[in-house]
Amino acid sequence: MPKVRMRNALKKVSFTRLFAKLKIRRHQHKAIFFYCISLPWILIYLPSVGYGQAKRYKFQKMLMGSPFQLVLYSSSDSVAQEAARKAFVRIEQLNERLSDYRDGSEINRLSATAGKKEWMAVSDDLFRILEISRKISRQTQGAFDVTVGPVVQLWRRALRRNHFPEPQELENVRKAVNYKYIRLRKRNRQVMLTKPSMRLDVGGIGKGFAADEALKIIKQEGISSALIDAGGDLTLADPPPGKTGWTVEITSGNGRDSTAILLLANVGVATSGATYRYLEHEGKRYSHIVNPKTGVGLRFHVRTTVVAPNGTLADALATACSVAGIQKSKKMLRRFPEAKVWLLEIRDGKQEEWKSIP
Ligand code: AMP
Ligand code: MG
Repeated sequence: MPKVRMRNALKKVSFTRLFAKLKIRRHQHKAIFFYCISLPWILIYLPSVGYGQAKRYKFQKMLMGSPFQLVLYSSSDSVAQEAARKAFVRIEQLNERLSDYRDGSEINRLSATAGKKEWMAVSDDLFRILEISRKISRQTQGAFDVTVGPVVQLWRRALRRNHFPEPQELENVRKAVNYKYIRLRKRNRQVMLTKPSMRLDVGGIGKGFAADEALKIIKQEGISSALIDAGGDLTLADPPPGKTGWTVEITSGNGRDSTAILLLANVGVATSGATYRYLEHEGKRYSHIVNPKTGVGLRFHVRTTVVAPNGTLADALATACSVAGIQKSKKMLRRFPEAKVWLLEIRDGKQEEWKSIP
């Protein structure tokens, strides 16, 4: 579990405006990502300013191994509470279906059919996430690939035992990795995994997908101004009442004070980084994000932040760009003109950075 520390430092900006600044650190030594959300709290106490009675609500729950935080604006306590309750139930439902950590989850039952030449009828959620993932795999030329399961399992075991996988082991599991081995039948929502030993892992897209789904529920409950923070990955709906956007501050992650402050709404912001989960072997660090083609954990990537039209795409692209690296990402992102990226790599002690985030 990443170490998450939040700090709330209230700073008075003027008589009519307060800023709440939340700092999130996933690792003690490196500031990975932080954001601040402008909060028109003063309006709650001074309704004469004219933004109606919408109040700010914050709810938090541990889900999918991360703290999920909801920030909602509503004029009714009961509406806000019901929206939050339903949103958390929805995330939990998705976790039950999509988590490869859960014995008997739908995704693990599907993985168990690999190579048996069987079609399995699956839920709309599982079908959709596989459909979206396959499309992103094609668009990223396989940098993002949810069939990395066997490789990820091998690395997780290696991490637990602190033992680097044998080349033969890597070679064996790699054979079962390729998004082209997933077959989908849309009409009756059936899936076939064509190679034995395949294992699906939607860890690179699941949090963004869950946040988008939770946001749908919140909107159905009549709330339009909302933010979901899934352990540092943000999915944003409309801005707080009277604001033009949520103020999101992104650090470069390179230890310097390089930051981007963005006013955002109706987008996803996701960060992928190798800083807190890695295997060290002969002085080299290998990330939990793997290159599907080599089966090896990333070596040079430090951190990627993506701003995209929704949480699902932001999450998947942050993983994909981490794998692709700076040079390939520049080309790859031409297929995603609405996505903005900030990538940081360190090769031979030299730091390279590329940023299309303004
Ligand atoms: P993220 O933190 O969103 O980049 O997701 C990392 C997780 O995605 C890993 O823990 C794996 O479960 C999974 N994963 C690793 N490599 C890939 C990859 N190349 N494509 C898709 N998912 C991956
Ligand atoms: Mg991701």
